[in-house]
Amino acid sequence: MKNLEKIIGNKPSIESKNNIVSPSLDAAANLRDFFIDSLKDIYWAENALVGALPKMAANATSSSLANAILEHLEVTKNQVSRLEKVFDLVGEKAEEKKCEAMAGLLKEGDGILEETEPGAVRDAGIIAASQKIEHYEITSYGTLSAFAKTLGENDAAKLLTQTLAEEKEADCLLNDVALNLINIVAAE
Ligand code: FE
Ligand code: FE
Ligand code: FE
Ligand code: ZN
Repeated sequence: MKNLEKIIGNKPSIESKNNIVSPSLDAAANLRDFFIDSLKDIYWAENALVGALPKMAANATSSSLANAILEHLEVTKNQVSRLEKVFDLVGEKAEEKKCEAMAGLLKEGDGILEETEPGAVRDAGIIAASQKIEHYEITSYGTLSAFAKTLGENDAAKLLTQTLAEEKEADCLLNDVALNLINIVAAE
């Protein structure tokens, strides 16, 4: 503890001052507000995915990868409606708030398409990008369902847990596709 204070104390003043973030005036005041904000974030993200997944599927060479993505597109559309139910259950209007993380993950996915030619390497890149997306969703829904439970929103928690299970399933499916792809590449 003494050492830590010493280390912090010895840091250049600009750096240590910049580590302290002052809240904006409309900063979430309590857990419920933070929960609703997080719902809006994932609502934006799921809608963005409905727009982005067809392009990823269209650029996949392997038909099992394209099918996995298209299957998850249908699941994702249903997740959007499920989120609308969650908003309804907690008495809030369904609203989107840009998710910078998902925007970044999608941008990286686009970059992979630009940097690769159709084939196994591009497919591997699409799988990697998709799994990063699924992992972001898994974390988000894990947190959201925990928040909902804490807030006593048990029906909302149930729906969020359902989506969490679907995201985990999508991640597993992508793992299977990746293993098959490796086998195909190894056999060539
Ligand atoms: Fe999703
Ligand atoms: Fe987000
Ligand atoms: Fe990155
Ligand atoms: Zn997903």
